[in-house]
Amino acid sequence: MRVELDQSFGVHDAAAVTRRDAAAFAARLAQANPREIIEAAARALPGRLAVVSSFGAESAVLLKFVADVDPSLPVLFLDTLWLFKETLAYRDTLVARLQLTDVRTVTPSPSALALRDPKRDLAFRDRETCCGIRKVAPLAGELAAFDGWISGRKRYQGGERTALAPVEADGPRLKFNPLADLTRAQLNATFIAAHLPRHPLEGLGFSSVGCSPCTHRPPAGGTGREGRWGGLAKTECGIHTGLPAATGADS
Ligand code: SF4
Repeated sequence: MRVELDQSFGVHDAAAVTRRDAAAFAARLAQANPREIIEAAARALPGRLAVVSSFGAESAVLLKFVADVDPSLPVLFLDTLWLFKETLAYRDTLVARLQLTDVRTVTPSPSALALRDPKRDLAFRDRETCCGIRKVAPLAGELAAFDGWISGRKRYQGGERTALAPVEADGPRLKFNPLADLTRAQLNATFIAAHLPRHPLEGLGFSSVGCSPCTHRPPAGGTGREGRWGGLAKTECGIHTGLPAATGADS
């Protein structure tokens, strides 16, 4: 698929090819359901496609659709070393429940932590840099081995996600968003229909779960992401706003 599209466009710049491929895929998959989008991604990029998951409060639904298509697809789990112990336990629960066979835990570079966060206090004084060394750089490195990735973002989460396309360009890679069009009601219905376990912290009022220093109980009635970096202008960690062309790893 990727090769066919590249030839039809007749251009050789990787980012330009990716933008055109993404636009073609997005048009083709505009009415597709999550499973169809994942199937199309897997067909287009065999052996070169990864899933990125935080194993957070809503992650089970994307992982269920992935498992339905191919439980051996690589799943990259970004462990910032600031995650709740409940998230690590939930990862193990979902891996067993969905029989995912290639979940790769990606951690920050020890040398980057020693250099930039030796006192483990960066999350409280410079969150952009903290996300940079604990999420963005590690993921960029890990994705160097892939030509595309799958994310679990939804339009209903608001902010920069409101206009999310089913497929987009991410530098030289394609990024597939099979849940872009899903509503919160459909997400909850999938949890129920597939008997998916809930994140242990959801019952305590956490509707979006990330790192412990930056996750709080959100007010009722929002998109669910208000509890992330609550009170700050920051709404994204950086992995969805342009990965560097690094060759290292994390989420
Ligand atoms: S979410 Fe918070 S703790 Fe996690 S990497 Fe970003 S700033 Fe650091």
